[in-house]
Amino acid sequence: MGGELFFADADSNYSDADFVIFGAPFDGTSSFRKGSRLAPDAIREASYNFETYNPYFDIDLADIPFHDVGDVDIPFHNAGDVDIPFHNAGDVDIPGSYTVEQAQAAVGDMVTAILSDGKIPIMLGGEHSLTVPCVRGSMNHFNDLGVVVLDAHFDLRQEYEGQVNSHACVSRRIIEDITDNYISIGIRSGTRNEYSLARSRGITYYSADLVEDKGIPHVLAELSRHLDLDTSHLYLSLDMDVLDPAYAPALGTPEPFGLTDRQVLSLIRRLAPRSVGFDLVEIAPGFDSGNTALLGAKFVCEFIASAWASR
Ligand code: MN
Ligand code: MN
Repeated sequence: MGGELFFADADSNYSDADFVIFGAPFDGTSSFRKGSRLAPDAIREASYNFETYNPYFDIDLADIPFHDVGDVDIPFHNAGDVDIPFHNAGDVDIPGSYTVEQAQAAVGDMVTAILSDGKIPIMLGGEHSLTVPCVRGSMNHFNDLGVVVLDAHFDLRQEYEGQVNSHACVSRRIIEDITDNYISIGIRSGTRNEYSLARSRGITYYSADLVEDKGIPHVLAELSRHLDLDTSHLYLSLDMDVLDPAYAPALGTPEPFGLTDRQVLSLIRRLAPRSVGFDLVEIAPGFDSGNTALLGAKFVCEFIASAWASR
């Protein structure tokens, strides 16, 4: 398991922890800019910037039992020393890596173990394809589950570059293979076919334009009509490219006209209390000066504080 770096203030031991962070350093199907396998440690490093006290919830992170188990054993994580030249993403392609299916199996084992121990898994990706085993594990454990995906992209392709388990097919796999109790927020990119599929299947989604026009309170009110936010089990997946690149430039596939940092914060604060699992994926460190990993680390802190405050 992993290197020496752990998320700040994750000082509880595993058995006492209510929340368990793990890294999943894999970006094997990333198509535009690789590097998300470097994100778990970049996020951990950024986490040391913050005070433990959270004034919004009047809670101290140091008083919340959470643990960082390190990385899922995916033979990608030693590649952290590789320098990523800006826009030269090809250079970080390490041969002899796991296939996406092997990486997903490793993540699935981790999530299942954490859920079986009655804890909430928090995955630091890695690419978005690793969300699929997290959702599957959560569904196996709870039987009923609502899935909320924050993403710029539909990810509704049947296959991409020959891979059915590509990062571009995540939502399609969830809806077809696991559950259609699914909602996505922040969408602003997809093929004509993906938009048609969303319409014909009645997939509920809130576009980035709608979020901008109507605001987050409206979206949350609408969301409650589809998912019972007060009683149901939710799985929350945060593909960081839901954010506008102005707030999160270091991404695998950045997409302009996105959500603001505060809009995503509001969604996390409202959804975390019902979430049985959370992941934060698609940060590709090296394409900014560290601000995207910093925002990611802060979202993890806010998720934990919000979930804890509601107990
Ligand atoms: Mn995605
Ligand atoms: Mn995306």
